[in-house]
Amino acid sequence: MTTTEAPGAPRAAIVTVDDDPGVSRAVARDLRRRYGEEHRIIRAESAEQALDALREMKLRGDLVAVILADYRMPQMNGIEFLEAAMDIYPGARRALLTAYADTGAAIEAINVVDLDYYLLKPWDPPDEKLYPVVDALLETWLTSDYRPVPETKVVGHRWSARSSEVREFLARNQVPYRWYASDSAEGRRLLEAAGTDGRTLPVVITPDGGPMVAPSDPELAARVGLATTPSAAFYDLVVIGGGPAGLGAALYGASEGLRTVLVERMATGGQAGQSSRIENYLGFPDGVSGAQLTDRARRQAAKFGAEVLTTREVVGLEVNGSARTVRFSDGTSVDAHTVILATGVAYRQLGAPGVAGLTGRGVFYGSALTEATSCADHDIFIVGGANSAGQAAVYLAKTARSVTILVRASSLEKSMSYYLIQQVENIPSITVRTCTEVIEAHGDKHLERLTLRNSDTGQTETVDAQWLFVFIGAAPLTGWLDGVVERDERGFVPAGPDLMADGHVSPGWPLDRPPYHLETSVPGVFVAGDVRAESAKRVASAVGEGAMAVMLVHRYLEKL
Ligand SMILES: Cc1cc2nc3c(=O)[nH]c(=O)nc-3n(C[C@H](O)[C@H](O)[C@H](O)COP(=O)(O)OP(=O)(O)OC[C@H]3O[C@@H](n4cnc5c(N)ncnc54)[C@H](O)[C@@H]3O)c2cc1C
Repeated sequence: MTTTEAPGAPRAAIVTVDDDPGVSRAVARDLRRRYGEEHRIIRAESAEQALDALREMKLRGDLVAVILADYRMPQMNGIEFLEAAMDIYPGARRALLTAYADTGAAIEAINVVDLDYYLLKPWDPPDEKLYPVVDALLETWLTSDYRPVPETKVVGHRWSARSSEVREFLARNQVPYRWYASDSAEGRRLLEAAGTDGRTLPVVITPDGGPMVAPSDPELAARVGLATTPSAAFYDLVVIGGGPAGLGAALYGASEGLRTVLVERMATGGQAGQSSRIENYLGFPDGVSGAQLTDRARRQAAKFGAEVLTTREVVGLEVNGSARTVRFSDGTSVDAHTVILATGVAYRQLGAPGVAGLTGRGVFYGSALTEATSCADHDIFIVGGANSAGQAAVYLAKTARSVTILVRASSLEKSMSYYLIQQVENIPSITVRTCTEVIEAHGDKHLERLTLRNSDTGQTETVDAQWLFVFIGAAPLTGWLDGVVERDERGFVPAGPDLMADGHVSPGWPLDRPPYHLETSVPGVFVAGDVRAESAKRVASAVGEGAMAVMLVHRYLEKL
């Protein structure tokens, strides 16, 4: 076994194993060339040797970020090795080196060992074939809970709704943080060091500032360096909503020379940002987490000059001549020639008695990713039968003792994609209870029990439960467009051809031309993504509509 270590602080390792000494040396050489300064490159020539090294490193408390394993090795193949390596370093990202003939095995391994990538040999030129993959693996590892000790610390009560919101906010804005329960020894030490008595929680300690006691989202945003105020009073384009549609629109708008500002009420990424793994987005054959996709999209939009504001909720839209005025919840506003509405949808709330009071105290809407580490080794319930529920179940099952999916329907077939149903079926710790609904949640300070009802038999049963994740569909929050932009009976925004009845545009439409394809009932106000009536409710279509809306913005501006 060979170790290459750059001088200085201990660095997270990249471990590579290949039984062919020539190949092993070549991989290590290429890795060292690019990553040698920041990472230790550890090379082994057998699975056993690599496992010994990993065990030793574990004992020493070393960090391992990435493991690259050859598939065809004697005694133990690459998949078996990665499975064993996962027991030692569950957070290390994993890739398999395969020959073309073995790609079938590699694809199978995606499910068995949660493989992130497989690399075809030879990987020349490394700039094109090896480094982009290792970059992505390192990026994933850095944004995971296994990264080196992060600098921002959150001390809070385990069952406090606000503590949970703060963690969700930081996670969704890709701010690395570490969580400490206020009743743990470390939590108490931190509170004392921060000079607070711990009566008001959560306390957030950032590396470059004093402790913040129960900060609001805008206060947190400002402290961690997120922009919250527009830098100008007038723009070519205001994009409302920072999900895939809004990020797509901001990216294309800015890259095509429009002065563009994106306004997001919480954190960029929208629903997609909460997805543990998006498997059907073009260009990511092995899936991509919503956090990664969001982080890349936000950086890309910013690179082209789009301003991205977070924690700013839009509460009003006015038409003032050719200007469109977008009003924020604090009473301030910004003007633009055009607006793209990309506000998506928000989770529907579960109406059963007891649920509302326990939200954030054991009951969560779509925050499965943030809470996953806290509910490790616990029994978890998930309500919902769609893909979002399936993805959460697969994700949570990695650490939970058991996951029970509660579905009202008699099967998952109608609501969940086939590939996810198969994944769910193949994980022994996941149980699916069909024809079952939650009719009451019980608990004092946090969720303790759920009463379930079988809709077939009418029988009820009360079960112990500390964790309930709810994924029961979503609705658009467009009430603030009342009296300005036309909406359908469910609150979705119709556009273009959907505003026409019998070939005629609605009576309020003020122009001679019909509305452009994604244009709403107000000229110059466009809509993209899930909030649009009849939209596809997919990441790819939201991004595509964002881009297309920008093209129509140009057409509108040409004739202004
Ligand atoms: C858990 C989960 C998993 C999913 N998995 C997949 C998948 O694998 N593949 C797939 O194709 N699709 C998936 N989807 C669906 C996909 O995420 C959505 O179709 C997509 O995110 C829609 O993008 P959007 O930009 O239109 O809206 P959203 O993603 O809903 O984003 C809208 C944004 O607007 C913001 N906003 C709302 N109102 C305001 C306001 N008044 N002011 C300022 N900001 C506002 C919101 O905070 C939000 O960030 C998944 C959804 C979920 C919830």
